[in-house]
Amino acid sequence: MCVFCKIINKELPAKIVYEDELVVAFHDINPQAPIHILIVPKEHIPTVNDLEEKHKELIGHIFLVAKKIAKDMGFAENGYRILINCNKDGGQEIYHIHYHLFAGKPLGKMIC
Ligand code: 5GP
Repeated sequence: MCVFCKIINKELPAKIVYEDELVVAFHDINPQAPIHILIVPKEHIPTVNDLEEKHKELIGHIFLVAKKIAKDMGFAENGYRILINCNKDGGQEIYHIHYHLFAGKPLGKMIC
């Protein structure tokens, strides 16, 4: 079982900030910004390349969850960045789709 599935199943601890029937969101263990949250679907989808038509609603839902977290944690107005890595060249380490949500400082224009 992958690391994120273990977090979803509560077999590994994580600082969870949001959870519903479709997703869980928790603080990244190695934050790259003052606020660095991972939004993870409960379904084990390895990469963006594995997304299918049936995931459309889930993907839309994740963006609404990001918006809710930003509002609830008070950084919606200042702003934030949502990022997804895909496969080796995209820098993906954990092969269970996750959306990085960065905030807490001006993040600059470029990520690479
Ligand atoms: P990727 O490089 O796959 O897009 O991002 C994986 C992210 O997961 C990294 O930012 C890494 O710090 C985070 N991460 C890896 N293992 C764990 C863990 O066990 N707990 C938490 N909270 N984050 C993790």
